[in-house]
Amino acid sequence: MLTRAVHTATLLNRDRKGADKSLESIIRHWKSEVICLSQMMLRSLRRMPPIAAFAALAALSYAPAQQKGKAQPPKSLRLYILDCGNITGVSAANFGFKEGELKDTEMITPCYLIAHPRGTLMWDVGEIPDGAFKGDGQPAKQGAFTVTKPLLPQLAALGYAPADITYLGLSHYHGDHVANANLFASSTWLVQEVERNAMFAPQDDKAKNAPNLSYFGNLKNSKTTIIKNTDHDVFGDGTVVIKFTPGHTPGHQSLFLRLAKTGPLVLSGDLYHYPEEMTLKRIPTIEFNQEQTAKSRASLEDFVKQQKAQLWIQHDAKRAKTLKKAPEFYE
Ligand SMILES: [Zn+2]
Repeated sequence: MLTRAVHTATLLNRDRKGADKSLESIIRHWKSEVICLSQMMLRSLRRMPPIAAFAALAALSYAPAQQKGKAQPPKSLRLYILDCGNITGVSAANFGFKEGELKDTEMITPCYLIAHPRGTLMWDVGEIPDGAFKGDGQPAKQGAFTVTKPLLPQLAALGYAPADITYLGLSHYHGDHVANANLFASSTWLVQEVERNAMFAPQDDKAKNAPNLSYFGNLKNSKTTIIKNTDHDVFGDGTVVIKFTPGHTPGHQSLFLRLAKTGPLVLSGDLYHYPEEMTLKRIPTIEFNQEQTAKSRASLEDFVKQQKAQLWIQHDAKRAKTLKKAPEFYE
């Protein structure tokens, strides 16, 4: 897309006299490709001087939400695990552990694409925005976070663009789960009412883990399904169900999947970070409400038993080594 915009600039500069004509033909070409370019925008482009029109077209080239990918809906539910980085050097004490109780505090940060015959769901969208990559092939780093691959190219490799993402679900608002949320502002956002209220409440900038509007501010105007602090069946057939598991944040949620071959599975967001939180019964000190976390854990563990489901702790670095990564998938 960018190459095309640069080509446009070359055309416009090469022949200033013919620029208007070139612009007309370019606009016609773009009209066929850019689905949401409205008649009104086209009229504005015609009125602009060529250079301004180029700037507008270049800006459109950065509007990936407008472009559809080539992926076809799968026949049955699929789960893709994408690489959205890792977290190192965190303090075990923040997660309720005494010194030495955790051998390794590394966490991994997956993003997930769920493809259903009737639509798609992005579940968690990373810890560093794609825009922070310098394009020099080097990983992006922010404090304890390191990401080696931006998210959109990983989706594109599977044939998906943001315009193909029907629903956006975030386990919770912490920065390591929402960094690319603005890229999915044209999807329908599935959010718990209490979580959304907390995300857009006036913030104390110095507060630890405060919601970062720069990551998700555009969601304020997204088409939104506000879930009334309960479970939510995403596609209406029981195969993809958001579970209300508050405590880590006011409206933290987990995701239940019923996969045809893999079987029932729960992605538990940050209800746990390390398997040792389960075995040693530790609750992080960084919770919004530890009592709620304890209740949510008890009820999710009952659900998991009843469904005979696997429970995958999203940040679990040890398990991650054993899991299939995109382009492979679970079905
Ligand atoms: Zn997290």
